[in-house]
Amino acid sequence: MSERPTGDGTASVHAGRPAAEPYTPSLPGPVFVSHYHLPGEAAGPYTYGRDENPTWTHLEAAISQLEAPGADADTVVFASGMAAVSAVLLSQVRTGDTVVLPSDCYQATRSLRQRLDSWGVDVRLAPTAGDQQLDVLDGARLLWIESPSNPELDVCDIRRLAAAAHERGVLVAVDNTLATPLGQRPLELGADFSLASGTKALTGHGDLLLGYVTVTDPALAAAVRLWRKTVGAIPGPMEAWLAHRSLATLHLRVDRQAANAVALADALRGRPEVTGLRHPGLPDDPAHRIAAGQMRRFGSVVSFVLPGREHAERFLAALQLTTEATSFGSVLSTAERRGRWGGDAVPDGFIRFSVGVEDAEDIVTDVLQALDAAR
Ligand SMILES: *Cc1c(COP(=O)(O)O)cnc(C)c1O
Repeated sequence: MSERPTGDGTASVHAGRPAAEPYTPSLPGPVFVSHYHLPGEAAGPYTYGRDENPTWTHLEAAISQLEAPGADADTVVFASGMAAVSAVLLSQVRTGDTVVLPSDCYQATRSLRQRLDSWGVDVRLAPTAGDQQLDVLDGARLLWIESPSNPELDVCDIRRLAAAAHERGVLVAVDNTLATPLGQRPLELGADFSLASGTKALTGHGDLLLGYVTVTDPALAAAVRLWRKTVGAIPGPMEAWLAHRSLATLHLRVDRQAANAVALADALRGRPEVTGLRHPGLPDDPAHRIAAGQMRRFGSVVSFVLPGREHAERFLAALQLTTEATSFGSVLSTAERRGRWGGDAVPDGFIRFSVGVEDAEDIVTDVLQALDAAR
């Protein structure tokens, strides 16, 4: 819980750091441990390494402070984003329940559908854009929101959907991966769970996998924590510590990425071979009005379509500064032809471009020369 109001930069740097003590580091190093000294009764904050680790405790406090400043929130960190996604879905949903998923969300989240089907859970799919999930809410146990959606960058009105869900007794989970807590705070918009892959912009260096779930309801927190302990989807202490260290620059990174994304989009506008340009921060983007009402920063991803698969492949091969890679939110600019994975309903020439924190001029120059080379 943060006691005094702080700006995003201050919050990013100080989040989760223990009170200053003489002769100790500001962020204690990773604690490598499987068993703790544990005499007598098996009680206490740290008993066994699959249950708790002090390095997670610091990181969890940090993420809670960023996701829900001033609230009494609880965060549980996981080995990956998918570990966090499945912890929420599988700890909450039982045989006979109904779950509403976005038809355009991250494809690995959607792929849990087969598993849920096999357990007798009714899965309803509806698109993110136009708040279309509202139409299929009746009788559901859990509404899953991903806004902005990956990779198509559609946005829904989280306040509106959360209010409608709660009227019907439906729990609401928001995948906050793309926005990061500095871009959007789902719990303040009414969600019960804010969860994310910390692999992407939250940690931002392309060197670790992490997931987290943040909640304010103690019963939900307990269920998610018990799920982690039971399935053992725990982050290594080194990854948790590196993640916490990376948070100090979150504010700098997401601000720079937001500016770079707009610079790239502006440069792409002038190109006749580019269609379907999307970024929620663009004033004329179909998602902008709703995004601006619930987001404070619009993320690193710009998407657009080139005329066909070969054209897109020539473009990616001609990039010199930007590397062809999946994932997004890194300090390095990355891009990929999303259709190469299958599973997303995107055109063959669809490019998901994630701007890094390089200089905007250099990113734009590289993209324009690669577009010229690909013609
Ligand atoms: C990448 C991603 C995930 C999964 O995260 P991992 O850390 O790769 O397991 C979940 N949701 C969204 C929106 C993502 O982009």
